Amino acid sequence: MKLHEYQAKNILKDYDVDVPNGIVINDFNELVNIEKVLTYPTVVKTQVHSGARGKAGGIKLASNFQEVKDFVKSLLGKKLVTHQTGDKGLPINTILLEEGIDIQTELYLAITIDGSVSNPIFISSSQGGMDIEAVADKDPNAILKTTINADIGLMSFQSQEIGEQLGLHKEIFPQLHKILTGLFNAFINSDSSLIEINPLVVTGDGQLIAADTKFSIDDNAAFRQQEIFEIRDKTQEDELELLAEDNGIQNYIKLDGNIGCLVNGAGLAMATMDAIKFSGGSPANFLDIGTANNPDSVVAALKIIASDTDVKAIFINIFGGLARTDIIAEGFVKAKKEGVIKQPTVIRLAGTNVEDGKRILNESNVEFELADGFAEGADLVVKVSSK
Ligand code: GDP
Ligand code: MN
Repeated sequence: MKLHEYQAKNILKDYDVDVPNGIVINDFNELVNIEKVLTYPTVVKTQVHSGARGKAGGIKLASNFQEVKDFVKSLLGKKLVTHQTGDKGLPINTILLEEGIDIQTELYLAITIDGSVSNPIFISSSQGGMDIEAVADKDPNAILKTTINADIGLMSFQSQEIGEQLGLHKEIFPQLHKILTGLFNAFINSDSSLIEINPLVVTGDGQLIAADTKFSIDDNAAFRQQEIFEIRDKTQEDELELLAEDNGIQNYIKLDGNIGCLVNGAGLAMATMDAIKFSGGSPANFLDIGTANNPDSVVAALKIIASDTDVKAIFINIFGGLARTDIIAEGFVKAKKEGVIKQPTVIRLAGTNVEDGKRILNESNVEFELADGFAEGADLVVKVSSK
């Protein structure tokens, strides 16, 4: 799960990381109440789950109240399209108004997990403010990676190394140590997968301030991070992925062919992809329905597959173990009757309750093709998809 910048900064404040003073608004009319407390320049920051907002016009510097009003009016309720969001963009429902800070230097600082060493690492660079991927391409030496032993925590020589690499004055080192410690603790305590501060700012009077924050929480930790997951903003998330999640669907992966695949289990998914390729076709996606034993989950799964405009035919390939083939059949018939799927569909069922499954299909009046074997099904769906 991703947090908004303002949510992330609220958490970081609890860990003694300095952030600019700010106020969050969700409605234009809230501006009148806060006119008196604003100072100038004020930074008007759209809260969407994307970086590169600045380049996309989502971060504005206002020098008086009129400009604040103009910017808020032009942004709130609209969509922000950045190079990370895709053409559809993300809805701007919230704006953070922040006290402008006197930026002298922009640095980059992040903490994430390095799987290769099974520990958190700090990533730091004196070239902050911009796209860190571009820095990594052009000048990889400008980036320092510091592995932190999760059991021991940050050691003072490590924050010294990071401070030197960032080119900070010695007087600022204690502030940096405080920020690194705060980030490490916030990262561990919230089961985070990434906290990125870009830019980390050195102000004219030598303060270190987190001017922007990206914060992600590992979804697998949802059960023990309930407080954080309560502030999840689903308006920023992909509709089809939310639909998948609400229906207990474990995996939906988009690919670049034209055959949609409903399968159960990762192994069967891979084998189905192979079979389609052997038959000369190409999968558009696969969706692993797992053991979701409920016809409505099957309808939701087919809705996700069928709404992909690349999908010209659908292959339902289920080996029933815990998953019941009769439930799959029931869900398919329901989806067909509700008009969820228009594409021709090939079905191959094996395993638990397969007689019931086939009977449900054959007694329905909906259109489909039944295949007995795996390879036969793949051949058939490839044929249908190229018609
Ligand atoms: P991002 O584009 O989504 O990463 O959004 P940021 O919050 O990083 O803002 C982009 C840029 O706006 C920063 O790199 C700064 O250069 C600038 N900016 C952000 N806050 C302030 C501020 O308080 N004062 C000034 N002068 N510039 C700011
Ligand atoms: Mn940024």
